Amino acid sequence: MLDAYPWQIDTAQRLINLRKQLPHALLLHGRAGLGKYALAQSYAKFLLCESADKSIAACGVCPACHWFEQGAHPDVHVLQPSAMDEVEDSDAKRSAWISVEQVRHAIDFVQLTSHRNGLRIVLIYPAEAMQAGAANALLKTLEEPPENSLLILVSDQMSKLIPTILSRCHLVGFDLPENGPTLAWLQEQGVENAALCLGLAAGSPLRAVTLADADYQTRRRTLLQDLLAAKKTNALLLAERYAKLVNADFSQLLLWLQQWAQDMLAVKLAGRVYYHLDHTEQLHSLALHVKLSLLQLWQQRLQQARAAVAHPLNVQMVLEDILLDYVNLFE
Ligand SMILES: [Zn+2]
Repeated sequence: MLDAYPWQIDTAQRLINLRKQLPHALLLHGRAGLGKYALAQSYAKFLLCESADKSIAACGVCPACHWFEQGAHPDVHVLQPSAMDEVEDSDAKRSAWISVEQVRHAIDFVQLTSHRNGLRIVLIYPAEAMQAGAANALLKTLEEPPENSLLILVSDQMSKLIPTILSRCHLVGFDLPENGPTLAWLQEQGVENAALCLGLAAGSPLRAVTLADADYQTRRRTLLQDLLAAKKTNALLLAERYAKLVNADFSQLLLWLQQWAQDMLAVKLAGRVYYHLDHTEQLHSLALHVKLSLLQLWQQRLQQARAAVAHPLNVQMVLEDILLDYVNLFE
């Protein structure tokens, strides 16, 4: 079997079966935190393994496997935003996007003959980091792929890919695994509060592992304390404090606020919480004091802010609006 997480076994088998009639482009898609890129790597390693008797797994000992593990296989090219490169040079210009130039390099790479008389593989992650120009630069290669080439695109947000890219890829979807086995797996990994973290991660196992981080949990709990003290909260002071704290990660703060809003709504509408399993009682008593219509408005406000997060005008001002609206929910 490919190196795969327990919830990927069926998908891994599908990929193995594809080997006999390998498409020129695969798109692995599904929510973030499901280990799609890890499986893409493991599949690439398997395809490139030079052991004669590999049937369903890379051997791990041939030169190809060895190079792959070192990140040095000559027939593999990774296309990712420069912001994801592991470089020490902090002055280097880092981008969250895959540039047209990077795509052209990848295309040149794929046109060459394989060093090992086999496949040439390009891994593209996240595929949605290709904006229109980069995606269009890739299209021609997708339309007329060179012999013995494979592009593996991996996407957390397939809806952001242009249809002409989608239509030329063989799609492999990753479903959310069931909670029961995932909880067991998280506990095996030593994740404390596995149920809480899985709830916060909306069911994505690897995201849940990240969220179990003690520092992350402390920051989250501090925010929740502030939100719980809504009636006594000075929204402007709070906005000032959080603007300083979160400048680097405004999106995360908005996500927390959105989850808080969603849980207050869920309490009002369905009598249950989804995310804050550690604050169920407090949410119930808080929700008693809030008007449904105002809460829905606040939630919309948060959605708008999150949609605009790539270009926040002024984090503190946006936060002031949001937190004032929040405090006013309880008037
Ligand atoms: Zn091998």
